[in-house]
Amino acid sequence: MISSIIDDRVIERLRALINGVQRIAITCHKSPDGDALGSTLALCHVLRRLGKDATVVTPDMAPKALEFIPGVRDLVVFTKHEVRARRILTEAQAIFCLDFNSLHRIDRLGEIIEPLSTTRVLIDHHLDPEDAFDLSVSFPEASSTCELVFRVLMQMGLLRMMDRQAASCLYVGLLTDTGGFAYSCDNPEFYEIISSILRRRIDRVNLYNKAMNTFSADSLRLQGYAISEKMQLFPDQGAALIVLDKGDLDRFNYNRGDTETLVNKPLAIPGIYWSVFLREDADRIKVSCRSQGDFSVSDICSRYFNGGGHENAAGGEFYGTIDEAVQAFHQVLADLFPDLGQQEQSTHNNNEEQ
Ligand code: 5GP
Ligand code: MN
Repeated sequence: MISSIIDDRVIERLRALINGVQRIAITCHKSPDGDALGSTLALCHVLRRLGKDATVVTPDMAPKALEFIPGVRDLVVFTKHEVRARRILTEAQAIFCLDFNSLHRIDRLGEIIEPLSTTRVLIDHHLDPEDAFDLSVSFPEASSTCELVFRVLMQMGLLRMMDRQAASCLYVGLLTDTGGFAYSCDNPEFYEIISSILRRRIDRVNLYNKAMNTFSADSLRLQGYAISEKMQLFPDQGAALIVLDKGDLDRFNYNRGDTETLVNKPLAIPGIYWSVFLREDADRIKVSCRSQGDFSVSDICSRYFNGGGHENAAGGEFYGTIDEAVQAFHQVLADLFPDLGQQEQSTHNNNEEQ
């Protein structure tokens, strides 16, 4: 049995809201990932089947690697179609905010939404949601926003509207936000949800291969280079650091999404339980952190890198040079492990010594 974790009053208000409106906008965080796109597109699909005029508006483009998700072509991307995106948001009678917890995570879309009096619904699984929503379905313990969209549909009695297309979208988020059912999926009900999705006859193997195991040659080479040449290990602190500067990215014709799972790789090494990846983007340093067990990287990202996220998967941004970002990482080491020196042991150097 999948239990009803969302308060009945919230479900009733959602039902009244959806029944009472026609134009619905759905949005998600910038640099959308599988969960952001899967959850928004699944919800959009179901709302359209209910006869609603629903549109997904994203702050920026979906990465190429996720273009296989059903409905991606219908996205209204703010950075490409600013006027249209603005019009859809301002004319919407309800705005669903999925897979983010604070309006600044959606860049300029946040500035458009903030002054509107339109009812805002949050469906999200990040820690510490902002108090900026009229209705909130916020469960940090949920595997993904896709899980929460499934639960909303279930509790509203709308699962019959979850066809193969919506189920495929949800599957992508459930799969990618758990690293391929590796973490954040201890709740047995997670697999009951998967079971319900599989009954819609989704093309599971194809979705798995596209979502988890499809990289361009450049991306694969960049990842190999990063691990071979740019990964530093700090065994005393259980830490790994990978830094890719603009030169590295240019050398491998970097495209958005190319480094998506790189930060997880060092966690394969016994004794390494947290990993940091710094990437020099055009206007900032993008920070990604992952960890295993009860070592929280969301605290690190909120304290040092203007970000946040989940205990084991968090991210943020650093404003400064790549060298200053590396210094900030060393400050984290010094603050968290004051009694240890910051001795780096690079696997690359080890091999040379042998
Ligand atoms: P990623 O490392 O894949 O970009 O992000 C991992 C997790 O951290 C995601 O759940 C994402 O929503 C969150 N996250 C990434 N970047 C930021 C950020 O700049 N600010 C906040 N608050 N969370 C972030
Ligand atoms: Mn998510």
